[in-house]
Amino acid sequence: MYRCAKCNEPIRNMSPIGLQCDKCGSRIFVKERPNVKKILKSD
Ligand SMILES: [Zn+2]
Repeated sequence: MYRCAKCNEPIRNMSPIGLQCDKCGSRIFVKERPNVKKILKSD
């Protein structure tokens, strides 16, 4: 599961052309895992 790094909004829509936050339009996301947190930057 991904969350927006800016506004923390959960991302549900996986667009084929690239991820973008529905709320703020940010393209930087945090991938949530039980143990590991990874930063994903999509551009
Ligand atoms: Zn956002």
